[in-house]
Amino acid sequence: MRYLSTRGQSNSDTKNSAAPRFTEILLAGLAPDGGLYLPESYPQVGKAELEEWRGLSYADLAYAVLSRFIDDIPAADLQALIARTYTAQVYGNGRNREQAAEITPLRWLEKPDEARGEGGLAILELSNGPTLAFKDMAMQLLGNLFEYVLAKRGEEINILGATSGDTGSSAEYAMRGKERLRVFMLSPHQRMSAFQRAQMYSLHDENIHNIAVRGSFDDAQDIVKAVSSDHAFKARYRIGAVNSINWARIAAQIVYYFKAYFAATGGVGGSSDREVAFAVPSGNFGNICAGHIARMMGLPIGRLVLATNENDVLKEFFQSGVYRPRVSAETHATSSPSMDISKASNFERFAFDLVGRNASVIRNLWSAVDAGGSVDLSKTSFFAKLSDFGFAAGRSTHADRLATIRQTFEKYGLVIDPHTADGLKVGSELRSPDMPMVVLETALPAKFEETIGEALGRRPERPAALQGIEDLPQRVEVIDVSVDAVKAIIQRLLD
Ligand SMILES: *Cc1c(COP(=O)(O)O)cnc(C)c1O
Repeated sequence: MRYLSTRGQSNSDTKNSAAPRFTEILLAGLAPDGGLYLPESYPQVGKAELEEWRGLSYADLAYAVLSRFIDDIPAADLQALIARTYTAQVYGNGRNREQAAEITPLRWLEKPDEARGEGGLAILELSNGPTLAFKDMAMQLLGNLFEYVLAKRGEEINILGATSGDTGSSAEYAMRGKERLRVFMLSPHQRMSAFQRAQMYSLHDENIHNIAVRGSFDDAQDIVKAVSSDHAFKARYRIGAVNSINWARIAAQIVYYFKAYFAATGGVGGSSDREVAFAVPSGNFGNICAGHIARMMGLPIGRLVLATNENDVLKEFFQSGVYRPRVSAETHATSSPSMDISKASNFERFAFDLVGRNASVIRNLWSAVDAGGSVDLSKTSFFAKLSDFGFAAGRSTHADRLATIRQTFEKYGLVIDPHTADGLKVGSELRSPDMPMVVLETALPAKFEETIGEALGRRPERPAALQGIEDLPQRVEVIDVSVDAVKAIIQRLLD
């Protein structure tokens, strides 16, 4: 499998050996032309194969899916690496053995009832990894892939990132203790919850460096961009990234759509004739992009429901054909903070497919986006094609979130987190009764105690292993908003 860029400067090379393969883009981030990497075609999975995959364990299914995208790691090595990643121990989180072995169990809120033509409503549990958010599903694999590829090549990498909460901790737990890589993670000083701070700052591994910036998340993000655009510094200190545009993260997320599809259509004895709908709480369009690709591979996904919070750039696009990224001053701080995103970096991947994989169209459209403008497809033939891709979109507000958390607890006895609540609210609205609807859980409520308290008048349960985490000794260096200060920390450690 070879990879091309959505902006296609290098696409003329696709047919010859110059187009990169998986391990060449694994550490690369953006393509040199500023586009995002995608496979040159989507592997197709037929009915017969689907039936074979139905009975596989999570790790075996992950290998079946990922080996279609990764053909430059020897099969036995890739299989072993995946088997080491998706274990009941890593994704167990104190659950019983049977649930833990499923890795991503499906929990029915309303069971399907064939006789009554009811497809059912379910939550796909994706948040039982080490940091209690779905990002662990991909990040744990990324950590093992990085370690493997760096060892093969005898290289090292220093990962520099900025986080508002979930990504940073997920990356640190995936990379901690690994050889040949270090993590420098910037976070906004005193703007994360006590729990989020404790999750990151209580790590004492030698290769993990927490840096708190006296400023906002955007300030931290700007520092990362400034350091990364200093090409001499970047090359000398081997600076890399693990942000959400990384192709391997998307690829890893495709797996659980298959897993959930099988679970929602009768499990081992079921059949792959019927369609399933998915509802996905979205920010950077990474999670739902994986669903789009699963569907392009032939998985019978009847509908992909995109849920936003008050930051509804993506909902607006799917309803109007206009994609208008907002500046950070126009971005609302909401009670589903991991979706407070106004420029959905992975959206370019879907747009590439929507415009018939024409890279020059994307190049033109996104030169406007990069310059702070917007994209208007409303009067083009592309907008008419949108319905071929199965998307529907809706928005959820703080009041919706609280009401959904409350109703879900009253009706089903289940406490869900604010992001999952956005997905459930929009998914319930855009559901056809006869089609199973699977809502993707993106975090556990324990991460967002304050909003759960506001909705239910009590704190969510916390997994035993994380009790009292706020009391552990913390390690973090606090700095002013300064590019040089960050460079100095990196130099001090590496020179
Ligand atoms: C990252 C995140 C999201 C958004 O996912 P995208 O892939 O960026 O669309 C939603 N909910 C939670 C809890 C997250 O951490």
